[in-house]
Amino acid sequence: MEKELKLIDVNKKYKLSNKETFQALYDVNIEFDKGELVSIVGESGSGKSTLMNLIGGLDSDFSGNIIAGGEDLSKLSDKQLNKYRKNKVGFVFQSFNLISHLSILDNVTLALTLSNVNEKEKEEKATEMLKKVGLEGHLKKRPSQLSGGQKQRVAIARALINDPEIIIADEPTGALDSETSMQILQILKEIADSGKLVIMVTHSEKVASISSRVVEISDGHIVNDKVNTKYKKEKNVELKEDISEELPEKENKKKNSKEKQTLSMKSAIKLSFHNMWSSRVKNFLMAFGVAIGIGSLILMMCFSSGITDYIDNTMRSYSDPTIVTVSKKGTKEDITSMISYNPFSSEEIEELKNDINGYLTENNIDFEVTDDNMEFGIQMMTMMSNAKVIYNPENKFVDYFANSGQDLANSGLKYDTVIYMYTTPPTYTDTNLSEGKMSTAEGGVMFSKGIKSLFEDNSIFNEDGSSKQVDICFTYMDAQNRPYNLTFADQEITAIVDTSVMSNYMVMYIDYDYFQSLFKNNPNTDGNALSPNSIYIRTDSEETTNLINSYLATTEKYKGSVEEQLAGMFTSMSSIIGTSLIVISCISLFVSAMMILVVLYMSVSERTKEIGVLKSIGARRKDIKRIFTSESFLIGVLSGFFGIVFNLILTLVVWLVLANTIGIVPISYRWWYFVIAMLVSIVISMLSGLYPASKAAKLDPVESLRRE
Ligand code: ADP
Ligand code: MG
Repeated sequence: MEKELKLIDVNKKYKLSNKETFQALYDVNIEFDKGELVSIVGESGSGKSTLMNLIGGLDSDFSGNIIAGGEDLSKLSDKQLNKYRKNKVGFVFQSFNLISHLSILDNVTLALTLSNVNEKEKEEKATEMLKKVGLEGHLKKRPSQLSGGQKQRVAIARALINDPEIIIADEPTGALDSETSMQILQILKEIADSGKLVIMVTHSEKVASISSRVVEISDGHIVNDKVNTKYKKEKNVELKEDISEELPEKENKKKNSKEKQTLSMKSAIKLSFHNMWSSRVKNFLMAFGVAIGIGSLILMMCFSSGITDYIDNTMRSYSDPTIVTVSKKGTKEDITSMISYNPFSSEEIEELKNDINGYLTENNIDFEVTDDNMEFGIQMMTMMSNAKVIYNPENKFVDYFANSGQDLANSGLKYDTVIYMYTTPPTYTDTNLSEGKMSTAEGGVMFSKGIKSLFEDNSIFNEDGSSKQVDICFTYMDAQNRPYNLTFADQEITAIVDTSVMSNYMVMYIDYDYFQSLFKNNPNTDGNALSPNSIYIRTDSEETTNLINSYLATTEKYKGSVEEQLAGMFTSMSSIIGTSLIVISCISLFVSAMMILVVLYMSVSERTKEIGVLKSIGARRKDIKRIFTSESFLIGVLSGFFGIVFNLILTLVVWLVLANTIGIVPISYRWWYFVIAMLVSIVISMLSGLYPASKAAKLDPVESLRRE
């Protein structure tokens, strides 16, 4: 009958450099059979461990043949070697090599976990096995809570769990005292007597004397091979029956079919969760670091959309869906075209009317622009033209223009600069006023909130309830760029307009007809009215409005209201700011990614031994990769979660600060920001985990087990 294990002309050379090699084994020819308890003896450095690693399938770089259980190891693929390690051979090491962050039970079930056996079956089997080595009371303990002998028993239970035919033990008693050594030896003897092949390396004469056969190696050569004639088999060995009969059908089915012996994603996550928990402080700190990046990213997205929403809402509250606002496009499409006053002549007004009506007729719309549904307005940006509003309760006379404005500073009067003069658009209603009432063609001016700083009591009303009065002085450029200096004295303030977009600037609103009458009556204007630069068309429906607006957008001649353009400018400004904030967040995320990479990379070095153990019990590269990948996945999920929590706290703080300072909170949440944040966090972690994971997967098992 074929022997269980046969080595034919096995030579092993270690590569030292490109040219040099070191031969550790020379022409090893030896056979072992089931039921043997073999001791391998020899001086340190003689090649014992090298031999064990070859037999165990940990090292496949050799010449010759190793035939184990009918399979020639030199001809097996990586995949088949993994299977061999997992099912055919069990490893016991001198230094136990238990995984410290897993419980005793989990250490033993690990090999089954790699085979994707179901949870219940795993536990039953492992518990049974631990019972056999006398550890039933210690299932939930950690390796660090056990004595050396107990640890080695766990290692033996782990080696036996997949019911291998060959057990390899490299100095299993080397770290134990003699009494414990004997107990371990007894267990190994029982295993051998149950019909398995046990090969152990030992230095102890006593240990060797108990085994059934002693093989001596010296400098890579087998120099002695003696059978111990006094060896006595145990009488009632239960191990054999128990282990092989326990799960005969399931096991065999699995072994024979094209089995799916892989580490399930669930088990990988569980394993990495255990590991993460064991270094939780490090992981929590790291996740917190990433969370700061993620949290800020969400906040930046919220800011970005918040500002846009805010402007949109503001715009909507000042726009009437049935009114079309038209102004003329300037010659230059830049900010100066918005500032410069660009009026319609009466011919141009007719032209606009015809253009729109022509378009409407073409599209069979039953609406016509007439003089009756048209209104006019004037919008001037005056920050370039020296516009001042002066609070002058005692009616002192100041000739502002005669003194080029110099004296105003020394006059003791309070004044402010108007940046925007605006005839009240027909879209404005009482709801746009924060106090007071609309000014009318009879008179009165309205201001944005900014004007209140002129008055000590922050009120536009005197104590007797009457309105405060101001003088308005400004230089006006006509269409030919000729300057006119105008002063409108003693104007009553009737209301404060809450135009949120502009509310912190000084904006003046005045009725169109009243403005025109002031103009005509001013000696400097030669009695001329001011041509309008805005035209409002009151349509019959929102659809007509939209239709006309979309038509105007296609023309070269016309554009929307100055307010609309301002809002557009704010929007593009805020999107630039928003984008740069998001870019900054991305940089911080990049830093986070580097941090994850470093931490995981270090974790690979720390866990070299563990990876070696996993490989020795049959873990494939894929499994190792999966463990590390799921670890980075968990870090991603954790960081994403922390990031969201951090973001909510951060937003609350920012909210409170903004609400109590500028009174505007431009923060808008979209539910999918959280989804994006979570995805970003997971993707970043997993990307940063790629390199460490593949490094871990590539580790050489022999080298990693050798590592101290
Ligand atoms: P033993 O287990 O009998 O003490 P080993 O099998 O570990 O000895 O080593 C046998 C010889 O091979 C030693 O001389 C050792 O230095 C050498 N050796 C072991 N591993 C390597 C390696 N990875 N590279 C080079 N030489 C090695
Ligand atoms: Mg050794």
